[in-house]
Amino acid sequence: MTNSTGTTNGKARSALVIGGGVAGPVTAMALHQAGIEATVFEAYDGPADEVGGGMGLAPNGFQAFDAIGVGDAIRAVSTEMNGIVLQSWNGKKLAEFGTLPGIDPTRFVIRAELFRTLREAAEERGVTTVYGKRIVDASEDADGVTAHFEDGTTAKADVLIGADGLRSTVRRLIDPAASAPQFAGTAGFGAMVADAGVAPTDGKMHMTFGKRCFFAWQVLADGTGIWFINLPVPQPLSVNEQRERGGAYWLGHLAELCDGDATPAGPLLAATDPKTMLFAGSTENMPRSVRWSRGRMVLTGDAAHAPSSSSGQGASLAAESAVELARCLRDLPLPEALTRYEDLRRPRVERIIKETARTNARKAAGPVARVVRDALLPTMFKLMKPEKNAWQFQYPIDFHAPVA
Ligand SMILES: Cc1cc2nc3c(=O)[nH]c(=O)nc-3n(C[C@H](O)[C@H](O)[C@H](O)COP(=O)(O)OP(=O)(O)OC[C@H]3O[C@@H](n4cnc5c(N)ncnc54)[C@H](O)[C@@H]3O)c2cc1C
Repeated sequence: MTNSTGTTNGKARSALVIGGGVAGPVTAMALHQAGIEATVFEAYDGPADEVGGGMGLAPNGFQAFDAIGVGDAIRAVSTEMNGIVLQSWNGKKLAEFGTLPGIDPTRFVIRAELFRTLREAAEERGVTTVYGKRIVDASEDADGVTAHFEDGTTAKADVLIGADGLRSTVRRLIDPAASAPQFAGTAGFGAMVADAGVAPTDGKMHMTFGKRCFFAWQVLADGTGIWFINLPVPQPLSVNEQRERGGAYWLGHLAELCDGDATPAGPLLAATDPKTMLFAGSTENMPRSVRWSRGRMVLTGDAAHAPSSSSGQGASLAAESAVELARCLRDLPLPEALTRYEDLRRPRVERIIKETARTNARKAAGPVARVVRDALLPTMFKLMKPEKNAWQFQYPIDFHAPVA
């Protein structure tokens, strides 16, 4: 398979986008809007419309979605969140974060709905996604870059964009010495429950630093419940290892661990269908000092900059970077486009990653650290001025403004 290659004034005219998660389709749509031909190559055999769980999309993410005209379609399948309540195991409120004045609320979306909406929007714009294409290698010559897929096929274009997630293969192709993501001490579980049997939480997500695990839940006005758990584990636990034990085992085990904490974990876990449980594997921290580009290859989304999964910023930062990369490729020749993109994006994403990494450390706290944490957090949060964080949630993008 060959995309038309051949640059105009050194600018890329065609792109291979590796990964069909969030960053992949957004990058491809933004490139399409910039007049650059883009095809998405996804390792899985078909669309991920069945993946479980939900996620928060921050207002800055919507500014990026709006820049390529998909914001309203995502608003239509998501609901507003009014805030986050942090609690200790005994139900004591440690802190509450509401919506900041002048800033749109974060919105909650069922992951499968987000993927479906992005996929349909990409299809409407004529972006092709090819499934069952796992990149394993790449090679460059004077007039392009060729992706080599596991099935023996290849594709060629002017630029190759790795939007292949936290465990990116393209990152390793760019820098064979790149270190792997670091185990962050917990494993993730979650589910959505059609009829939670628990009172709606008024648009708020509640998060409890329990005695043995971190439990978060939200119940929507229609009775749909969403919960997720971060369980401290001594060594990495893969998705396959979680699956092997099965949903019924984990629901029972997690219910025991949550027992004694002042949360509705009991009824929510009891109402969960074991077959629909989401296994997220171990939480992982982004490797340090990731190289973002080499030659005609560049990273975006989690492949370049994954914040902790509980930051509520991963998908939004992925969308921001995707749109900014397309603007740089539209306006600047290679390789300047890739350097400018990194200059534009790295300071912001690294600052957010640093700030949100602390949350994971708090979740994996042992018994002594837990007592210290619960004693200190209320004071820390009182001293914190929420408006100081407003910068995170504001990232307006004027797509048509030329990149200097
Ligand atoms: C439990 C959990 C909860 C989270 N909650 C939130 C939240 O509330 N809010 C938020 O904003 N973010 C959240 N995140 C983070 C968010 O999911 C990611 O930041 C976001 O999905 C990043 O998008 P991406 O497209 O870069 O990567 P991904 O969504 O990971 O997509 C990468 C894609 O690349 C494909 N791929 C991988 N390797 C290859 C290969 N070799 N060849 C071809 N294709 C490949 C994968 O199959 C996948 O489809 C959460 C993450 C987890 C694990």
